[in-house]
Amino acid sequence: MSKIWVYAELTNAELAPVSLEVLTGARQLGGDLEAVVLDPAGAGVVETLGEYGAGTVYLGLDPSYREHLAQPAAFVLAGLVEQHHPDLILFGATYDGRDICARLSARLGLTVVANVLDVVPHGNGYAAVSSIFGATQNVTTELLGPSPCALVRAKSFVAAPGSGTGPQVVDVALPPEAPTGARRLESVVTPSSGPKLEEARVVVSGGRGLQAPENFRILEQLAELLNGAVGASRAVVDAGWVPYARQVGQTGKTVKPDVYIACGISGAMQHTVGMKGASHIIAINKDRDAPIFKLSDLGVVGDVLKVVPALISELEARGAQAP
Ligand SMILES: Cc1cc2nc3c(=O)[nH]c(=O)nc-3n(C[C@H](O)[C@H](O)[C@H](O)COP(=O)(O)OP(=O)(O)OC[C@H]3O[C@@H](n4cnc5c(N)ncnc54)[C@H](O)[C@@H]3O)c2cc1C
Repeated sequence: MSKIWVYAELTNAELAPVSLEVLTGARQLGGDLEAVVLDPAGAGVVETLGEYGAGTVYLGLDPSYREHLAQPAAFVLAGLVEQHHPDLILFGATYDGRDICARLSARLGLTVVANVLDVVPHGNGYAAVSSIFGATQNVTTELLGPSPCALVRAKSFVAAPGSGTGPQVVDVALPPEAPTGARRLESVVTPSSGPKLEEARVVVSGGRGLQAPENFRILEQLAELLNGAVGASRAVVDAGWVPYARQVGQTGKTVKPDVYIACGISGAMQHTVGMKGASHIIAINKDRDAPIFKLSDLGVVGDVLKVVPALISELEARGAQAP
């Protein structure tokens, strides 16, 4: 039976949502599912990993994994791979996931496919479905060689626990020769309120049509009324109007909310690739020929600076209830 590994990542002592999604996707492939956790807070997530299908958890708790970025994790993971020879290794396509996967592949010469949306059985092994050409086409790639790796995009699978229980835990030690050449000096958490962009059920996104950074205030107001999060196009991120963390699209985040409201966004392919999976798309744009209308379920042709305040007044008058 094949052995599939998921590199399970923690954010602030909790499993990253993408790790739970990847575990869910991996479970559908059958085989023995195992997780690797290299984080000082890892002991707290072992039960959850079991619920999501991991029969074994390789657990490293050394503080160095947090202090020294990806180097020690990639080193230890390489040792584990050489020892246990998994048939497939899945990572969430996060900053750390990409960093660790790249270093692992460089150490052991493993195959890597990035931007993966799905993994399917193929022959005696697996193939990865990834999106190319600005997400206009999907390509299926056979994963050859020992322990091939796939970097899976967020929201490729819907996270759902299975019926697993307490997994076997294998303690992993950090060898003294593990490289520790880069040390984290400071971590700054940007204060935010409301749901996270990637997890929000409603996303209100703004583009250059907002005309000035201060006009994002009306999107904040609308998002708050709908218990949603505020996103943005790259044009306004590049202009310094909002932080990069809000960018939706090819070089930003992928979101799949119930409702996506695009305000003054033209609908360039590089933007829509990050939001076209939303269940309902509403677009507000003064140009009736804007490409975003081709994707939208509801289109409002008008000035965003008039339409959004009118929407806010209407919601306030109705005593908006978050979905
Ligand atoms: C390699 C690469 C990667 C990229 N990655 C991303 C990415 O991740 N995310 C992303 O978003 N983009 C990305 N881009 C940029 C993308 O191609 C577009 O340039 C960008 O999405 C345009 O942003 P925008 O829609 O806000 O601006 P514009 O294209 O300038 O559109 C502004 C829209 O606002 C409308 N408008 C103007 N005034 C009003 C008003 N008062 N009321 C209503 N509507 C109004 C206009 O009709 C227009 O449709 C990438 C580009 C490249 C080359």
